[in-house]
Amino acid sequence: MKTLMKKAIQLRMDLLQMIHRANSGHTGGSLSSVDILVALFYRVMRIDPTRPLWEERDRFVLSKGHSVEGYYAILADLGFFPKEELERYCRLGSFLTGHPTRKVPGVEVNTGALGHGLAVGVGMAIAGKMDSKPYKVYVLMGDGELGEGSVWEAAQVAAHYGLDNLVGIVDRNRLQISGYTEEVLRLENLAEKWRAFGWEVVNVDGHDLERLVGTFEKVPILAKKPHLVLAHTVKGKGVSFIENKKEWHHHVPSEEELRRALEELNRQLEELENDVSKDGYKTCNC
Ligand SMILES: [Mg+2]
Repeated sequence: MKTLMKKAIQLRMDLLQMIHRANSGHTGGSLSSVDILVALFYRVMRIDPTRPLWEERDRFVLSKGHSVEGYYAILADLGFFPKEELERYCRLGSFLTGHPTRKVPGVEVNTGALGHGLAVGVGMAIAGKMDSKPYKVYVLMGDGELGEGSVWEAAQVAAHYGLDNLVGIVDRNRLQISGYTEEVLRLENLAEKWRAFGWEVVNVDGHDLERLVGTFEKVPILAKKPHLVLAHTVKGKGVSFIENKKEWHHHVPSEEELRRALEELNRQLEELENDVSKDGYKTCNC
Protein backbone atom coordinates (compact mmCIF):
# COMPACT_ATOMS: atom_id res chain seq x y z
CA MET A 1 0.00 0.00 0.00
CA LYS A 2 2.91 2.31 0.74
CA THR A 3 4.16 1.82 -2.83
CA LEU A 4 0.74 2.84 -4.14
CA MET A 5 0.65 5.89 -1.89
CA LYS A 6 4.06 6.98 -3.14
CA LYS A 7 2.89 6.44 -6.69
CA ALA A 8 -0.10 8.72 -6.08
CA ILE A 9 2.15 11.50 -4.78
CA GLN A 10 4.56 11.12 -7.69
CA LEU A 11 1.67 11.30 -10.16
CA ARG A 12 0.44 14.50 -8.50
CA MET A 13 3.87 15.99 -9.13
CA ASP A 14 3.85 14.78 -12.73
CA LEU A 15 0.43 16.19 -13.52
CA LEU A 16 1.21 19.59 -11.98
CA GLN A 17 4.34 19.83 -14.09
CA MET A 18 2.38 18.85 -17.21
CA ILE A 19 -0.21 21.56 -16.58
CA HIS A 20 2.43 24.18 -15.83
CA ARG A 21 4.47 23.29 -18.92
CA ALA A 22 1.41 23.33 -21.21
CA ASN A 23 0.00 26.44 -19.56
CA SER A 24 -3.33 24.63 -19.72
CA GLY A 25 -5.22 21.96 -17.82
CA HIS A 26 -7.61 21.09 -15.01
CA THR A 27 -5.69 21.12 -11.76
CA GLY A 28 -8.36 20.66 -9.06
CA GLY A 29 -10.27 17.74 -10.56
CA SER A 30 -7.12 15.94 -11.66
CA LEU A 31 -5.73 16.06 -8.12
CA SER A 32 -9.03 14.87 -6.62
CA SER A 33 -9.27 11.81 -8.87
CA VAL A 34 -5.66 10.56 -8.77
CA ASP A 35 -6.13 8.05 -5.94
CA ILE A 36 -9.17 6.51 -7.63
CA LEU A 37 -7.16 6.08 -10.84
CA VAL A 38 -4.17 4.65 -8.97
CA ALA A 39 -6.34 2.05 -7.22
CA LEU A 40 -7.93 1.00 -10.50
CA PHE A 41 -4.91 1.00 -12.80
CA TYR A 42 -2.24 -0.39 -10.47
CA ARG A 43 -4.27 -2.91 -8.47
CA VAL A 44 -7.76 -3.63 -9.70
CA MET A 45 -8.11 -3.61 -13.48
CA ARG A 46 -7.02 -6.44 -15.72
CA ILE A 47 -5.09 -4.64 -18.43
CA ASP A 48 -2.03 -5.28 -20.55
CA PRO A 49 -0.13 -2.21 -21.83
CA THR A 50 1.47 -4.33 -24.56
CA ARG A 51 -2.00 -5.24 -25.84
CA PRO A 52 -4.20 -2.13 -25.43
CA LEU A 53 -7.01 -3.77 -27.42
CA TRP A 54 -6.85 -7.20 -25.73
CA GLU A 55 -10.45 -8.38 -25.93
CA GLU A 56 -10.77 -9.45 -22.31
CA ARG A 57 -9.28 -6.29 -20.80
CA ASP A 58 -11.27 -4.33 -18.26
CA ARG A 59 -12.57 -1.10 -19.74
CA PHE A 60 -12.15 2.37 -18.23
CA VAL A 61 -14.01 5.49 -19.34
CA LEU A 62 -12.95 8.89 -18.03
CA SER A 63 -16.32 10.55 -18.35
CA LYS A 64 -14.97 13.70 -16.65
CA GLY A 65 -12.61 13.94 -19.61
CA HIS A 66 -11.19 17.32 -18.66
CA SER A 67 -9.33 15.78 -15.69
CA VAL A 68 -6.98 14.11 -18.09
CA GLU A 69 -3.48 14.83 -16.85
CA GLY A 70 -3.29 12.16 -14.13
CA TYR A 71 -4.81 9.65 -16.56
CA TYR A 72 -2.11 10.34 -19.19
CA ALA A 73 0.63 10.20 -16.57
CA ILE A 74 -0.60 6.76 -15.47
CA LEU A 75 -0.91 5.38 -19.01
CA ALA A 76 2.66 6.54 -19.71
CA ASP A 77 3.95 5.13 -16.42
CA LEU A 78 2.38 1.76 -17.22
CA GLY A 79 3.99 1.73 -20.67
CA PHE A 80 1.05 2.36 -23.00
CA PHE A 81 3.22 5.03 -24.65
CA PRO A 82 6.66 6.57 -23.96
CA LYS A 83 6.87 8.79 -20.90
CA GLU A 84 8.66 11.53 -22.88
CA GLU A 85 5.37 12.20 -24.67
CA LEU A 86 4.05 13.75 -21.44
CA GLU A 87 6.40 16.66 -22.05
CA ARG A 88 4.55 17.41 -25.27
CA TYR A 89 1.13 17.48 -23.57
CA CYS A 90 -1.11 20.01 -25.35
CA ARG A 91 1.64 20.87 -27.87
CA LEU A 92 0.87 21.08 -31.56
CA GLY A 93 1.22 17.64 -33.12
CA SER A 94 1.04 15.65 -29.87
CA PHE A 95 -1.71 13.04 -29.46
CA LEU A 96 -2.01 14.13 -25.82
CA THR A 97 -4.72 16.74 -26.15
CA GLY A 98 -6.61 18.48 -23.36
CA HIS A 99 -9.34 15.85 -23.44
CA PRO A 100 -8.70 12.13 -24.04
CA THR A 101 -9.13 10.66 -27.50
CA ARG A 102 -8.72 7.19 -28.93
CA LYS A 103 -5.47 8.31 -30.57
CA VAL A 104 -3.91 7.70 -27.15
CA PRO A 105 -3.00 4.04 -26.58
CA GLY A 106 -5.08 2.80 -23.64
CA VAL A 107 -7.92 5.29 -24.06
CA GLU A 108 -11.19 3.54 -24.90
CA VAL A 109 -13.34 6.45 -25.96
CA ASN A 110 -13.17 10.19 -26.68
CA THR A 111 -14.62 12.08 -23.73
CA GLY A 112 -14.97 15.58 -22.45
CA ALA A 113 -18.51 16.46 -23.44
CA LEU A 114 -19.94 15.75 -20.00
CA GLY A 115 -22.75 13.28 -19.41
CA HIS A 116 -21.79 10.83 -22.14
CA GLY A 117 -19.37 8.44 -20.46
CA LEU A 118 -21.86 6.38 -18.47
CA ALA A 119 -23.99 5.67 -21.55
CA VAL A 120 -20.90 4.46 -23.44
CA GLY A 121 -19.96 2.31 -20.44
CA VAL A 122 -23.46 0.83 -20.41
CA GLY A 123 -23.01 -0.15 -24.05
CA MET A 124 -19.67 -1.79 -23.30
CA ALA A 125 -21.16 -3.67 -20.34
CA ILE A 126 -24.11 -4.92 -22.42
CA ALA A 127 -21.67 -6.06 -25.13
CA GLY A 128 -19.65 -7.93 -22.51
CA LYS A 129 -22.75 -9.75 -21.29
CA MET A 130 -23.87 -10.61 -24.83
CA ASP A 131 -20.44 -12.01 -25.69
CA SER A 132 -20.05 -13.79 -22.31
CA LYS A 133 -16.81 -11.89 -21.68
CA PRO A 134 -15.50 -11.65 -18.10
CA TYR A 135 -14.41 -8.01 -18.26
CA LYS A 136 -15.69 -5.19 -16.07
CA VAL A 137 -16.37 -1.61 -17.11
CA TYR A 138 -15.40 1.33 -14.88
CA VAL A 139 -16.74 4.82 -15.56
CA LEU A 140 -15.40 7.80 -13.61
CA MET A 141 -17.77 10.76 -13.46
CA GLY A 142 -17.48 14.18 -11.89
CA ASP A 143 -20.15 15.30 -9.44
CA GLY A 144 -20.84 18.49 -11.39
CA GLU A 145 -21.41 16.22 -14.38
CA LEU A 146 -24.41 14.65 -12.66
CA GLY A 147 -26.45 17.70 -13.64
CA GLU A 148 -26.60 16.18 -17.14
CA GLY A 149 -29.88 14.31 -17.67
CA SER A 150 -28.17 11.78 -19.93
CA VAL A 151 -26.36 10.34 -16.89
CA TRP A 152 -29.69 9.37 -15.38
CA GLU A 153 -31.00 7.88 -18.63
CA ALA A 154 -27.93 5.65 -18.71
CA ALA A 155 -28.41 4.82 -15.01
CA GLN A 156 -31.92 3.54 -15.72
CA VAL A 157 -30.74 1.39 -18.61
CA ALA A 158 -27.93 -0.14 -16.54
CA ALA A 159 -30.36 -1.17 -13.81
CA HIS A 160 -32.92 -2.43 -16.33
CA TYR A 161 -30.36 -4.81 -17.85
CA GLY A 162 -28.89 -5.83 -14.47
CA LEU A 163 -25.35 -4.83 -15.44
CA ASP A 164 -23.34 -6.19 -12.51
CA ASN A 165 -20.20 -5.87 -14.69
CA LEU A 166 -20.53 -2.06 -14.63
CA VAL A 167 -19.01 0.15 -11.92
CA GLY A 168 -19.82 3.85 -11.92
CA ILE A 169 -17.58 6.03 -9.77
CA VAL A 170 -18.42 9.58 -8.74
CA ASP A 171 -15.52 11.85 -7.80
CA ARG A 172 -17.57 13.57 -5.11
CA ASN A 173 -15.40 16.62 -4.47
CA ARG A 174 -18.46 18.86 -4.00
CA LEU A 175 -17.18 21.51 -6.39
CA GLN A 176 -17.72 22.18 -10.05
CA ILE A 177 -16.45 24.90 -12.36
CA SER A 178 -18.85 27.54 -11.08
CA GLY A 179 -19.00 26.73 -7.38
CA TYR A 180 -20.26 24.23 -4.80
CA THR A 181 -22.47 21.56 -6.35
CA GLU A 182 -25.08 22.02 -3.64
CA GLU A 183 -25.41 25.69 -4.59
CA VAL A 184 -25.21 25.30 -8.38
CA LEU A 185 -27.60 22.34 -8.66
CA ARG A 186 -28.30 20.37 -5.49
CA LEU A 187 -27.37 16.68 -5.69
CA GLU A 188 -28.07 15.36 -2.21
CA ASN A 189 -29.14 12.85 -1.14
CA LEU A 190 -26.93 11.46 -3.87
CA ALA A 191 -26.56 7.91 -2.56
CA GLU A 192 -30.33 7.58 -2.23
CA LYS A 193 -30.82 8.88 -5.78
CA TRP A 194 -28.58 6.17 -7.23
CA ARG A 195 -30.27 3.54 -5.06
CA ALA A 196 -33.66 4.73 -6.30
CA PHE A 197 -32.37 4.19 -9.83
CA GLY A 198 -31.64 0.55 -8.93
CA TRP A 199 -27.90 0.71 -8.22
CA GLU A 200 -25.93 -0.85 -5.38
CA VAL A 201 -24.13 2.09 -3.74
CA VAL A 202 -20.93 2.05 -1.69
CA ASN A 203 -19.58 5.17 0.04
CA VAL A 204 -15.82 5.33 0.29
CA ASP A 205 -13.08 7.81 1.15
CA GLY A 206 -11.77 8.60 -2.32
CA HIS A 207 -8.26 9.20 -1.00
CA ASP A 208 -7.97 5.99 1.04
CA LEU A 209 -6.19 3.66 -1.35
CA GLU A 210 -6.69 0.59 0.79
CA ARG A 211 -10.45 1.12 1.01
CA LEU A 212 -10.69 1.98 -2.68
CA VAL A 213 -8.92 -1.20 -3.72
CA GLY A 214 -10.93 -3.29 -1.24
CA THR A 215 -14.20 -1.82 -2.47
CA PHE A 216 -13.46 -2.35 -6.17
CA GLU A 217 -12.30 -5.89 -5.51
CA LYS A 218 -15.59 -6.77 -3.79
CA VAL A 219 -17.66 -5.90 -6.87
CA PRO A 220 -20.11 -7.36 -7.71
CA ILE A 221 -21.47 -7.22 -4.19
CA LEU A 222 -24.94 -8.01 -5.50
CA ALA A 223 -25.60 -9.97 -8.68
CA LYS A 224 -27.62 -8.35 -11.46
CA LYS A 225 -27.12 -4.82 -10.16
CA PRO A 226 -24.86 -2.06 -11.45
CA HIS A 227 -22.58 -0.64 -8.74
CA LEU A 228 -21.90 2.96 -7.87
CA VAL A 229 -18.84 3.88 -5.83
CA LEU A 230 -19.46 7.25 -4.26
CA ALA A 231 -15.88 8.39 -3.70
CA HIS A 232 -15.73 11.30 -1.26
CA THR A 233 -12.80 13.46 -2.29
CA VAL A 234 -11.29 16.93 -1.92
CA LYS A 235 -10.82 19.00 -5.05
CA GLY A 236 -7.13 19.82 -5.38
CA LYS A 237 -6.18 17.10 -2.87
CA GLY A 238 -2.55 16.98 -1.86
CA VAL A 239 -1.58 20.65 -2.16
CA SER A 240 -2.80 22.84 0.70
CA PHE A 241 -3.30 26.08 -1.22
CA ILE A 242 -5.15 24.34 -4.08
CA GLU A 243 -7.53 22.24 -1.98
CA ASN A 244 -11.22 23.10 -2.03
CA LYS A 245 -10.97 26.22 -4.16
CA LYS A 246 -13.20 26.52 -7.21
CA GLU A 247 -10.68 28.92 -8.83
CA TRP A 248 -8.33 25.97 -9.21
CA HIS A 249 -10.78 24.11 -11.47
CA HIS A 250 -8.56 25.08 -14.39
CA HIS A 251 -6.10 27.54 -12.89
CA VAL A 252 -2.56 26.86 -14.07
CA PRO A 253 0.15 26.96 -11.38
CA SER A 254 2.69 29.75 -11.83
CA GLU A 255 6.40 29.03 -11.49
CA GLU A 256 6.25 29.96 -7.81
CA GLU A 257 3.05 28.00 -7.14
CA LEU A 258 4.53 24.95 -8.84
CA ARG A 259 7.65 25.22 -6.70
CA ARG A 260 5.59 25.41 -3.50
CA ALA A 261 3.35 22.55 -4.58
CA LEU A 262 6.28 20.27 -5.44
CA GLU A 263 7.91 21.16 -2.13
CA GLU A 264 4.77 20.09 -0.25
CA LEU A 265 4.47 16.88 -2.20
CA ASN A 266 8.14 16.06 -1.74
CA ARG A 267 7.70 16.54 2.00
CA GLN A 268 4.78 14.08 1.90
CA LEU A 269 6.98 11.57 0.11
CA GLU A 270 9.66 11.96 2.77
CA GLU A 271 7.11 11.53 5.57
CA LEU A 272 5.85 8.40 3.93
CA GLU A 273 9.40 7.06 3.69
CA ASN A 274 9.82 7.74 7.41
CA ASP A 275 6.45 6.17 8.20
CA VAL A 276 5.21 9.37 9.82
CA SER A 277 2.02 9.57 7.86
CA LYS A 278 0.85 5.98 7.48
CA ASP A 279 -2.70 7.07 6.81
CA GLY A 280 -1.72 8.88 3.62
CA TYR A 281 -4.55 10.96 2.29
CA LYS A 282 -7.46 9.55 4.30
CA THR A 283 -10.05 12.26 4.78
CA CYS A 284 -13.15 10.55 6.20
CA ASN A 285 -14.27 7.41 7.96
CA CYS A 286 -16.92 6.46 5.42
MG1 LIG B 1 -16.56 18.12 -8.85
